[in-house]
Amino acid sequence: MTSNFVTTARSARQLRQTGRLAQARWSPSPNCGKRPEGADVSLLVVHNISLPPGHFGGDYIEQFFLNTLDNTAHPYFATLADLAVSAHALIRRDGSVIQFVSFLDRAWHAGRSQFCGQEECNDFSIGIELEGADNVPYEVAQYEALANIALLVMRAWPQVTPERIAGHCDIAPGRKTDPGASFDWAYFRNQLQRMIAGRQV
Ligand SMILES: [Zn+2]
Repeated sequence: MTSNFVTTARSARQLRQTGRLAQARWSPSPNCGKRPEGADVSLLVVHNISLPPGHFGGDYIEQFFLNTLDNTAHPYFATLADLAVSAHALIRRDGSVIQFVSFLDRAWHAGRSQFCGQEECNDFSIGIELEGADNVPYEVAQYEALANIALLVMRAWPQVTPERIAGHCDIAPGRKTDPGASFDWAYFRNQLQRMIAGRQV
């Protein structure tokens, strides 16, 4: 599936104004809040999630972020009962995107975290979940959607640079492992660089 992302300056401006990805299905999560006064977006965090772990498809992730997951539907879900979390967006296996939180607001994706000495990454980051697992290769369509979102975010919030795109594992080492060894950072960064170069022509 080829995504139909538009990454023009105009669409980046719209994203900065509205906080909403035009290409995503909007499914608002209550698990969010305002960013602290003066906090601007300067970091993109890549995660993975699958529910139950290692199983793809279905609506469990969306239900989890909306606090509507039936915690008896699978034994693993009992461990999630008291959690209230979210991410700004989820990229499914086919590259389609669901957005849960406005990019202008603070999603609850990073937890205790630190990037370049700055703590509480939720304050100043955008969190993108890939439907996946640490040891399962991601789909080409997911890399493509992620690179498009990253490019849009970098255009909308220029403080986000390729160097300020990190994994959850990088901002919460020892506590989190996602997006895992299966995420091909070299491939992703290459794709992003090619898109950036293409934009400058
Ligand atoms: Zn994560």
